[in-house]
Amino acid sequence: MKHQKFDIIIVGAGLVGSSFAYALKKLPLNIAIIESQDIIKQAVINDKRSIALSRASYQVLQNLGLWQAISHFATPIKSIHVSEQGKFAFTHFNCQDMAIDAFGYVVLSQQLKQYLQTQAQTELNNLTWFCPSKIQTIHKTVDDIEITLDNNTIITTKLLVATDGSRSIVRQQLNFATKRKDYQQTALVANVHTEYSHKNTAYERFTELGPLAVLPLLANQSAIIWSIKHPHQKDILDLSDEELLPLVQSYFGKRLGQWLAIEQRQAYPLQAVSSQSCIAPKVVLMGNAAHTVHPVAGQGFNLGMRDVAVLVELLTQAVNHKQAIDDFALLKNYQQWRSQDQLQTQWFTDSLVEIFNQSFLPIKCLRRAGLMALELSPLIKQQFCQYSMGLSGRLPSLIQTQGDSNGYQTV
Ligand SMILES: Cc1cc2nc3c(=O)[nH]c(=O)nc-3n(C[C@H](O)[C@H](O)[C@H](O)COP(=O)(O)OP(=O)(O)OC[C@H]3O[C@@H](n4cnc5c(N)ncnc54)[C@H](O)[C@@H]3O)c2cc1C
Repeated sequence: MKHQKFDIIIVGAGLVGSSFAYALKKLPLNIAIIESQDIIKQAVINDKRSIALSRASYQVLQNLGLWQAISHFATPIKSIHVSEQGKFAFTHFNCQDMAIDAFGYVVLSQQLKQYLQTQAQTELNNLTWFCPSKIQTIHKTVDDIEITLDNNTIITTKLLVATDGSRSIVRQQLNFATKRKDYQQTALVANVHTEYSHKNTAYERFTELGPLAVLPLLANQSAIIWSIKHPHQKDILDLSDEELLPLVQSYFGKRLGQWLAIEQRQAYPLQAVSSQSCIAPKVVLMGNAAHTVHPVAGQGFNLGMRDVAVLVELLTQAVNHKQAIDDFALLKNYQQWRSQDQLQTQWFTDSLVEIFNQSFLPIKCLRRAGLMALELSPLIKQQFCQYSMGLSGRLPSLIQTQGDSNGYQTV
């Protein structure tokens, strides 16, 4: 039976796990990453989602030296239009009003993941991959955490970082108390070809069946994410492309002219998952393993990337000061630093879904008034944008631009 020791073991090489592994590049630590899927074949499985990267996530990738390559497959979001179907109320955000060149960027989730995994594989000499590999047991000893893999390999670590997604095995096996909410909605994702160019505008339209996001991709192509209330999803998901296209357009309207084709369809049932704590002695949960949020505000991965930036900062400080990386005080610091952002983002996304789910007249009037108030108040708009871009609160170094501590870059 093989037996290997590591300073850090990461479980899950998805978007958050592979970003975290790469971000540890400069630290003199011996790291392992366990991934249950064969990442070569995973490319074939194909995640067709497009995701919006916030400005803070862009900044992390920039500071890690990865942005130059990613920019070749990223579309900037320069304006955002939020509206409610059939109502006049809307609000509009323009990046120039905020003195920035883009609010964020749209990328294909699969393409970003493959790029991050490849960079971590090729550039990191201190990273050992166990892939494809599954965890059999996790056992805490006085000094270490011991993991038995499905081929009977035993690996031990001082610090276990779980980035194994919403159904985290680490979270379950170590008995973290967890809250779950089934939204009774399914996200239909697809790409649409449109008559007019999107002009780098992202749309969020609240329809009676659920929120519909339309994100800019290539010229005259946008990605849609329509979170459809149950039981309506059944009939809609069964439609042919020819039937679906005019239906989605009827909910969106004519802003991008006539919609010409729809492709790359996939469906994702939606839920929120929240671990009551994201730390235990020698263990940290990050990304979807700690908090899975509704995609309505495009915050899930972005929130996970902010977890990454903070944990890397605290681990770097510990290494530089020759302190133990598994000191529980360090983990408590991490939780304290991250909890406000995590709770706020979970609350914000959940409230958005619930408020726009209501058909009760006074709530409908309030939400229309809210959209108009946002449109008419530049100060609230600016604060709202700063929060959505992941640039509010205390920022770790990986989220800061060089020479500018508030994370902003002027146009
Ligand atoms: C429709 C939709 C649209 C979205 N749009 C956006 C958006 O615009 N912006 C945004 O920021 N977020 C968005 N999100 C959320 C975002 O996709 C997730 O938050 C993000 O992918 C979470 O990354 P993760 O690495 O934490 O988890 P995951 O992506 O779930 O990765 C977990 C990894 O762990 C591996 N794994 C699982 N179990 C084990 C195990 N036992 N052992 C080893 N490995 C294991 C998995 O194979 C996987 O590789 C969207 C989500 C949906 C559903």
